[in-house]
Parts: sequence; C-alpha cells; structure tokens
Amino acid sequence: MYFNVTDYNDPVGAKQIPSKCPGCGTSNCLELQFYQKRIETSFSKRVTSNVSGILFCDNTQSEIASVVWTDEINQYYITEKSKLNLQPKKLSFNKWFYCLIILPLILIASAIGYNMYEEESYTDETKAIEQVHIGEKVMVLYTTTDSNNVTDNGTTWFIVKKIEADSIWVQRHEVFDTEGDVHFDLAASKFTKETLKASLTQFKTRGLFGHDYPSQKFSGYISTLKR
Ligand SMILES: [Zn+2]
Repeated sequence: MYFNVTDYNDPVGAKQIPSKCPGCGTSNCLELQFYQKRIETSFSKRVTSNVSGILFCDNTQSEIASVVWTDEINQYYITEKSKLNLQPKKLSFNKWFYCLIILPLILIASAIGYNMYEEESYTDETKAIEQVHIGEKVMVLYTTTDSNNVTDNGTTWFIVKKIEADSIWVQRHEVFDTEGDVHFDLAASKFTKETLKASLTQFKTRGLFGHDYPSQKFSGYISTLKR
C-alpha cells in the first residue's frame, strides 16, 4: 500500500444572480457555485474550511473567469459565500490508520506480557528452590575445581538426598554434559555419582557451594528444579 493524497471539492451551494453576464451580455443566466475542499489520504479524511467558487453561465454553458467579474458580481460572490452552510472542519481516520497505530501496540503489549510471564516462571522456580524437598532434582551449571583450577565445566543434575540444619546433601547424575546436547534421563537410578554436602542457605539462592569456601572442589548455579 502506498501513500495517496486526493483533493475533493464538495458542492456546498449555488446561487442564481441577476447580473449581466461579462461573457455573453445576457442577464439572468449566471450562477455562482461554491465548493468546500476535502483532503483524503490512505489513512485519513480531512474536511477543510477552504471554500472556492466559480461563476457559470447557463446561456453558453461555460465558466466565466474571475478576472472578468464586475464589481457587482464580486459583491454577490462575497455575500453568498458568507451565507454558505459549510461542513464542519473535521479530521477522521480510517481502518488503515488504526491498523498502523494499533498493530505495533499489540506487538509491544505481547512482548511485555511474555517478559512478565518469563519473570513469573523464574519467580515460581525460585520459590520452589527455596522450599526444596528431599527427592527433588535440580539442573546445575556446574564447575569442578582443583586448587583453584577449573577441571570441568558443564551441566548436570543432582537429586536431593538429605537436608539437615544448614546443610543439604545432593547426589550427582551419572551424566556430565560438557557439550550442551544431552537429554537427561532423570530416573532416580541414574543419580549414581558423588554425593556433595553443600550450604542450604546458598542452595536457596540458586548457588551450590560447599560450606568451606577456600578448599571447595565445586561450584554450581541451579537453573531448574523438578519434583
Ligand atoms: Zn453568459
């Protein structure tokens, strides 16, 4: 669709005048005709207060140019023009305009809505992690270290085995995914690797750390919890 502007001149009145015609010299053959300008675009319609008039001779069926109008004709023109019943000045928009305006609003609203939904599921998940129970499984972005050197880095799952005071015991899944392409089988029997004792306080804020920071052999970020 391209942008289109069209001017229309709507008739708003006509008046026979008795003056002698500057064209053919006859009397009672002249008519003043008035038009109001309306501008339409692809998106809008505007009624303007712009009024134009022509003088038409019924005798010769032709328009009489304003340059040859007599003072009397000019006076009629001014008087009749002031008596016209004009369309009120108005700007209105069509459906295309509303599509153009509303469509982006819908897109923005959906984007905001989706983000709020995402935010909400993150909040729900955080709550579930705070209220962790034995038997639940967490997906962890996991790093093992050896004397401050990273020895392994990847994703794995842990199952919660025991919660006591400020400690949580979790046992690691048999698969440690370093490529990011593993589909994990979360059957309880698959959690066969080492059991870690970690800080429950840290766990509740998505961290998987040993109590003893300086000599800890692992660190992890909990991204998901499954019951
Ligand atoms: Zn005439």
